[in-house]
Amino acid sequence: MKRHDDGTRCLEGTRQIPRNFAACCDIFDAHTSTCAFDLRYEWWEESGAWVIAISESAGGGGITILFCPHCGTRLSTNS
Ligand SMILES: [Zn+2]
Ligand SMILES: [Zn+2]
Repeated sequence: MKRHDDGTRCLEGTRQIPRNFAACCDIFDAHTSTCAFDLRYEWWEESGAWVIAISESAGGGGITILFCPHCGTRLSTNS
């Protein structure tokens, strides 16, 4: 597990997505495996929601999104 200078985990290269995930566009797809310091989308199974992940350094958690910020497609929520 990579870590940032402040000791928080770096999630770059890891993904948290639904099992049968098919990205609406390449940009969204690319940002499912980026670090929360960049722009990172995660699927939260328990809440059944897509979120913009917030870095642990900034308090953690996520902001729910219903539509892709890049192409405007409604995000699939069936996993
Ligand atoms: Zn990182
Ligand atoms: Zn999209």
